[in-house]
This record gives sequence, structure tokens and C-alpha cells, in this order.
Amino acid sequence: MTDFTRTRELFDLPEGVIYLDGNSLGPLPKTARERVAREIDHGWGERLIRGWNDCGWMDLPGRVGDRIASLVGAPQGTVTAGDSTSVNLFKALTAALSASGERRIVLSDSGNFPNDLYVAQEATRALGKGYGLKVVAPEEVEAAIDETVAVLMLTEVDYRTGRLHDMKALTEKAHAAGAIALWDLCHSAGALPIDLTDADADFAVGCGYKYLNGGPGAPAFIYCKPEWAGRAAPALAGWMGHAEPFRFELDYRPDEGIGCMRVGTPPILSMVALDAALDVWDGVKIADIRTRSIELSERFTLEVEARCPGLELASPRDPARRGSQVSFRFEHGYAAMQALIAGGVIGDFRAPDIMRFGFTPLYLGMEDVLTAVDRLEDVMKRRAFEAPVYAVRAKVT
Ligand SMILES: *Cc1c(COP(=O)(O)O)cnc(C)c1O
Repeated sequence: MTDFTRTRELFDLPEGVIYLDGNSLGPLPKTARERVAREIDHGWGERLIRGWNDCGWMDLPGRVGDRIASLVGAPQGTVTAGDSTSVNLFKALTAALSASGERRIVLSDSGNFPNDLYVAQEATRALGKGYGLKVVAPEEVEAAIDETVAVLMLTEVDYRTGRLHDMKALTEKAHAAGAIALWDLCHSAGALPIDLTDADADFAVGCGYKYLNGGPGAPAFIYCKPEWAGRAAPALAGWMGHAEPFRFELDYRPDEGIGCMRVGTPPILSMVALDAALDVWDGVKIADIRTRSIELSERFTLEVEARCPGLELASPRDPARRGSQVSFRFEHGYAAMQALIAGGVIGDFRAPDIMRFGFTPLYLGMEDVLTAVDRLEDVMKRRAFEAPVYAVRAKVT
């Protein structure tokens, strides 16, 4: 059994804060601060340009990718870290389309993070040649998979409700119809057991700053099934994806492995922070994370439903059908969340009316969850959300 008292100690959380938003931005692992400071002083400061060789910076995206691979059930050498999730999605989608013959349809769902739909809309538009995006309701995805679909592009966990797609079943269905399956694991990696090999996913992308705690704007990751490496080409290239960048050949010759998914110079300081943050997972079993996260979110859900009658559960009631978050609908959800945050319990809000709470056993215990419910009940009873100060919308919600 994973020792969650030990993992809690690995994080630097502000005194008095109960953090239910690790699904948006993971907190600071203590080792990340030390490692970044050391890299600045000894790497950048002393080694200067020599750091690319002496400090292993050139290979860091692959090494960090290998560590993430272990968390998502992917073989070593099939994941690389870098760029943002959006950019990785563009690369994965265009690579998948490059390998999908005459088919022209990218199939996704309306529960996807709108960002991913934006990427697909513009990627298909830029490719031209009749490519297009088809969006159906989440529950209609399975029936919409047919032999016109080139790529099935889905996010495993719905960012609003936490609803979980069955990655293995839908991938199987896609393959049976001759389509390629591309999965976004932003709300899955570090939260749920994932087995990309067993699910037989073709491509996957995910986030470094959510459950992996890599820091604001941390490098994301991209996975490519071994059989696609060298056969599927992203429509975005740069010298870091070249087989031999320092030969400075005039023509692009992609790396034959996962390196072909690299583009430009990696952000080393952020990559070091992510690398350090991944130390937290040493000795942690993802299955234990899942079990504990369900215990925490179940208790939270039952207590909130019993004590906060104005809130309506927006997540699937069956914990096996949701990720590591629970959401409630409330007309004044934005203001209520601001009032809750002012009281030291941090969750977030997603338009139009979703109050979202993430459960991360690495640093969150049952006592925290019960205190969070007390404070939420208090906000609702006092109607604290009516205070004008909480109605002012910030840029980031
Ligand atoms: C968080 C998230 C992203 C983030 O993309 P960025 O490029 O890092 O801004 C993308 N897709 C999904 C599904 C997400 O949850």
C-alpha cells in the first residue's frame, strides 16, 4: 500500500489551504524547487552552452518521456516530453491523418475540452483536401464510428463532469472500422491506471502541469505506438525532430523513433521541474491512488448532497465511470467558488455553472475533504455567494 503520509510531505502547500484543484495545476513538489535552483546555478550559470552535453539537456525530453511512459502503460522509447498539449495534439492528429489513406473525417465529441476541438478544426482546415471535424454527443460516439472515420480523437476524462470514456472499447471499435485512435490523457495521467499498450491506442497526448505536478506551463507529453514511428509524419517539424540535427542538412529527415515528435529547443528549466516532480511517483502505486481517490470523492459527494441542497451532482454517480474529480451544478457557482476559495478551500469553476473539485490522494486526506464540505456548507447556508465581491469574474476561472 502506498504511504500517503509520506507523499504529503513531498509537497510544499501553503498553510491552511485545502487544495482541490490539482486537476488544474498540481502543487509544488519540494524537490522541484531544489532541482531548478541547482540547474540554474550549476547548469545554466556554470556550464553555459556546455550544459547541453554535460547536463544531459539534449536527452532530457526522452528521459522524462520514459518516466511518464511508466505511468501510462507505454513501452520505453515511445513517449517524449515537450511543447504544450495543444501543440502535441496538432502533431499527433496530423501524423494520424498522414497515415489514414483516403479517409477525411476526424470524429470527436462535444464533451471534449473545447481547446482540442479548436486544434482539430484548424488543423483540418490547414490541411485542406476535404478533411473535416465531426462532433457528436459523448454517448453517441460509439455509434458514430464507421468506415468514413480517419481518426477518433477523444479525451478520456471529461474536463467538466469527469465522465470517463472506455478507452479500450472505443479504440477497439475504431480499429474494427479501420480508424486510428488518438487519446488526450490530460485528466487521466497521474490520476487513473492507464495502459496505452493494452488499450492499443495509436497516439496519445497529455499534460505535465495537472496531476503530474510539473508546474505552470510544464512541458506536455506525446505518445506514438511503435508501429507508427517513422510511418506517420506530423505536419510540424523542426530541427530537434531531425535524425541528426547538428548535421544541418537542408532537407528534413525525421528521427525514426519518438524523436520525430520533437520540434524546437526544449524548455530545460521547466523540463527539470517536471523531471523532479516525477520523483514523487517513486514508490506510489497508481492503483492505490485510484482506490483512495474514489474513497475521498465518494465521501465528498455523499456529504455535499446531504448538506448542500442547492448543488446538483453533474458527475456520474458511479465512481467507476468518472475520473478523479467531482462537479456540481449551481446557478451561482462562480461566486460560491470564490467565497469558498476566500475561506481556504481551492477548487475551480467551469462555465456555465460547474463547481469542480479534484481529488489527489498524494497530498489530500479524508480530514481535508470533510473540512472542505464544512466550509462549502457554510458558504451555502450563509449565502456568501451573494456578496458583490465574489461576482467579479477574473480572467482565469
Ligand atoms: C488541460 C487540457 C489541455 C491543456 O492544453 P494546453 O496546451 O496545455 O493549454 C488540453 N486538453 C485537455 C483535454 C485538457 O484538459
